[in-house]
Amino acid sequence: MKVAIVIFLSLGLGAHSYYFRPPQGIVNYGNQVIYSNALRYKLQEIANFFGSVTVTSGLRQGGDPHHAVGQAADIVVPGLDPKVVYDRLRMSGIISTDYIVMYHAPGVRPCSTGTHLHIARYQKEMFTGRATCWVIEGTNIFNRCPSRPPC
Ligand SMILES: [Zn+2]
Repeated sequence: MKVAIVIFLSLGLGAHSYYFRPPQGIVNYGNQVIYSNALRYKLQEIANFFGSVTVTSGLRQGGDPHHAVGQAADIVVPGLDPKVVYDRLRMSGIISTDYIVMYHAPGVRPCSTGTHLHIARYQKEMFTGRATCWVIEGTNIFNRCPSRPPC
């Protein structure tokens, strides 16, 4: 009986999958490495939302504790201003908990290079339910190079 049901469901899904397969975006990792499976899953969700996303930096040594353990990604969406991406992501609810999302605004600053979005998990895999901290960095003297997220 179980087998029959599985076969029936498989056939059904196969026949109609065109109608309810969610759009699959492309995550372009290049050479970048992300250790956090939860972050990789989230990047796929972001790609599904925008169509594609490019990871410009993942695991790396240096000052950022989240990049150092592979639970942070710097991303760009081809053809979209990073501030627009930041705003749309915030509105979408895709990253409403468990993340620090930082928009590095244009400008020359000692703490970041280039305009991009930084996305890091509070915990590598665990879900905390803690509200995501949305940070804009570098648009004025008060938010230039915050040494730690303000929330
Ligand atoms: Zn970063």
